[in-house]
Amino acid sequence: MNTPHCRFCNAEPSLQSIKGKFVYGGTSEQHFWKCSDCQMIYLFPPLSEEKELEFYKKEFEKYMEERTAQDKDWSTPEKHFKSNQREVIRRMSFLKRYVTPKQKVLEIGCSSGFMLSALRDKGIDVYGLDPSEGFIAYVRSKGIQVYKNLEDLQRQHDLAFDLIIHYYVLEHIRDPVEFISQYMELLNEGGKMIFEVPCATDPLVELYKVPAFDRFYWSVAHHWYFTRESLTEVLKRTGYTFELFPEQRYDISNHMTWMLEGRPGGLDRYSHIFGPELDRLYKQKLKENWLCDTIIAVVKK
Ligand SMILES: [Zn+2]
Repeated sequence: MNTPHCRFCNAEPSLQSIKGKFVYGGTSEQHFWKCSDCQMIYLFPPLSEEKELEFYKKEFEKYMEERTAQDKDWSTPEKHFKSNQREVIRRMSFLKRYVTPKQKVLEIGCSSGFMLSALRDKGIDVYGLDPSEGFIAYVRSKGIQVYKNLEDLQRQHDLAFDLIIHYYVLEHIRDPVEFISQYMELLNEGGKMIFEVPCATDPLVELYKVPAFDRFYWSVAHHWYFTRESLTEVLKRTGYTFELFPEQRYDISNHMTWMLEGRPGGLDRYSHIFGPELDRLYKQKLKENWLCDTIIAVVKK
């Protein structure tokens, strides 16, 4: 087996070890490696840029539909929009302290536009970017300005933003430092970038170590999996000040279903027994220990 140099800090092969052996959607040669120097977890070998482009152009929605079959509905934009309304509520409970009417907000990777639509309802001036062809017409039909890439957007508008958001995008990006730096330049002074990424110290990986989850979790669509430590390394390199917050998306029923049946989709299964208060406490304890499935980052300009 070919042991790589770290894809992030170039540390030597002796400092690299396999963290995720099985890559969902990948080949038997691909693994997620962890660097003991910078703590980054990265796919190696990565997809070629050509193959990656093709993947997002043609296959991404279908891939996600298979992967999240019982959880989010990727089959049509209408269903995707609807099945993400619960996510809107969760994300807004954090985001609301950062938004005020008339702000200009850009979402990178806006998908079916469910976040932008909710923000627009609060009187915010919203713009979206999404490279995938699947949902663009639908987002436009809602009267939201969405573009395939930044060049297309800048051809139409000369804008600076108050807030830039992206959810589950950074782990897909080949050069995360360059990506953040590039978009931070589009912010007004005092503006913020707020984003979420999966947290690799997910309790199903680090606490319960569920074998079926391990064969599901490490996705070929990701270049990186971040932890509190490795995301700190990434953001330090951008030179901006930032804060990280632990977040837990999936509930106790989802975790029990993984443990019982080795499959996703258990959301709310036992909530009629345990109720919301236990779930809130359960999530709080996981977050306090950074054994949680999500990291929220706030980067300040
Ligand atoms: Zn490294």
